[in-house]
Amino acid sequence: MKFKELLISLSLLTQKMNNHNYWMQNLIELLKKEISNSVEVPVGAMIVDKGKILSTAFNKREETNLATAHAEILAINSANKTLDSWRLTDTTIYITLEPCSMCLGAILNARIKNIVFASFDYKTGSLGGKYNMLNYVSNDINVISGICADENSKILSEFFKKVRK
Ligand SMILES: [Zn+2]
Repeated sequence: MKFKELLISLSLLTQKMNNHNYWMQNLIELLKKEISNSVEVPVGAMIVDKGKILSTAFNKREETNLATAHAEILAINSANKTLDSWRLTDTTIYITLEPCSMCLGAILNARIKNIVFASFDYKTGSLGGKYNMLNYVSNDINVISGICADENSKILSEFFKKVRK
């Protein structure tokens, strides 16, 4: 690769990363508002399509008493309604925590193109934190991890500190 081409591809990469930072930061700010006085484990998900937010949702397992009320599932349901389609082709899902196997299944079923998450979940993460389910599927999907991870880890550890008290 020529030097100029290298520079161009580097700047494209930075642009992409900045975009991911922008949306994740956006999601984390909303999550911070959501969690004041909430008993839910703080997890947020946002689905973005061509620079537009289709849906934003937060974990609501306690409030709804539904085992499936993870942020990702609620965000997918809402985006499906918005688009009036079960296909979320070419969209990106931003998640503050690595998805569990149930949510990854839903993401794959919705044909989402990109998964961007902040922190790894070493207990139930399905994209490398606990195990990597992508080894077993043929979907063409991009995964980016670690975006705004430090900030999100702080939110999680403060929550668990509060719960322990
Ligand atoms: Zn989940």
